[in-house]
Amino acid sequence: METDGAETTLHDALSLSYEEWRKLVVEDWKEPRFRADQICGWIYGKKVFDCHGMTNLSKTLRDKLIYESRVKLPIQIKALKSKDGTRKYLWQMEDGSRVESVLLDHANHTTACISSQVGCPLACVFCATGQGGYGRNLTAGEIVAQFLLMEQRLGRNINNVVFMGMGEPLLNDANVFKSIRILNHPKMRDLGARHVTVSTSGIVPGIRDLADFEVPVRLSVSLHAPNDALRSKLMPVNNQYSLVALVEAMRYYKKRTGERITVEYVLVEGLNDDPQLAFEMAALLDGLGVYVNVIPYNPVNNAPSNNNAPPNASGSGLRRPSEARIKAFCSALTDLSIEFEVRREKGTDIMAACGQLAGQII
Ligand code: SAH
Ligand code: SF4
Repeated sequence: METDGAETTLHDALSLSYEEWRKLVVEDWKEPRFRADQICGWIYGKKVFDCHGMTNLSKTLRDKLIYESRVKLPIQIKALKSKDGTRKYLWQMEDGSRVESVLLDHANHTTACISSQVGCPLACVFCATGQGGYGRNLTAGEIVAQFLLMEQRLGRNINNVVFMGMGEPLLNDANVFKSIRILNHPKMRDLGARHVTVSTSGIVPGIRDLADFEVPVRLSVSLHAPNDALRSKLMPVNNQYSLVALVEAMRYYKKRTGERITVEYVLVEGLNDDPQLAFEMAALLDGLGVYVNVIPYNPVNNAPSNNNAPPNASGSGLRRPSEARIKAFCSALTDLSIEFEVRREKGTDIMAACGQLAGQII
């Protein structure tokens, strides 16, 4: 294609922060400031992504948007709806990479579970994403897009977002933090900071950065074991960041933000479901006042779900503990006065539960 030689950068619209929009609109395009607010209003408020539909903008400004920016929307490859109303979406990015997102819709409480990476490099033994390998970090725009497209499909706002889809958000902290700034900004999506939860396998420097982050979001730590020997078996990341360092970072977060930390504990039969481990966990996290989500292991099986399969069938050889074992672990938590809930996963019939997101990495 021939050009006149004048090169312009094509701005990735969904990756732009509010400040970047303002700079672009005012300094580069010589338009009044309120035009940036109008553009953000269309994208984040009305989910209008095509500038032809941004009817209150001048023709000149719409032309600038057309020639100098692009809203890169992932393509929806698949959408599945579970019997309990949970929806799972498979998206394809421009380079062919695929990620999944989950929408949990309750009466007046909706949560978007979004991905931060294509796959995950951390290879936790119980996790479908981790077993599938790693592609790349998602851009801020690709993270934000998952949320906006689900809101668009739902036809109303989603109140909560959790970074519990594919990937380790704190290995992609620059883009994850930027996506949070975008979703939180009052002129953009205006989603409350406390409605955002970042779940991490324990990336210590990332937890410290999150503690210092200007948007006070919630932290969820995937602990799964209270001692290094056991944790390293389940989560190779523990070889890099030991429990002592992790707990220190959690204490720092607590001190800085005052926010209660959630601890995720996936119960796997015979591996980490001994009630004695609950006592060890209590000692480890002493004084932190955490809230524990006990998640009975979801069998990981990338084949389409088969209702005739026994509930413990699993490709990885790991099993979900019996109800009696789950109860025994929970009563230890009760004895220790640790607040907890057992997370009965939603959307298991469409493999939309924690750790079952596998996508397809290209
Ligand atoms: N990488 C981040 C966030 C994504 S994983 C993290 O590890 O925290 C989101 C949650 O799903 C984590 O708590 C993870 O431990 C849990 N999970 C992974 N595989 C699971 C499985 N098979 N059954 C139940 N929970 C699982
Ligand atoms: Fe990665 Fe989280 Fe899965 Fe571990 S549990 S492999 S950190 S996505």
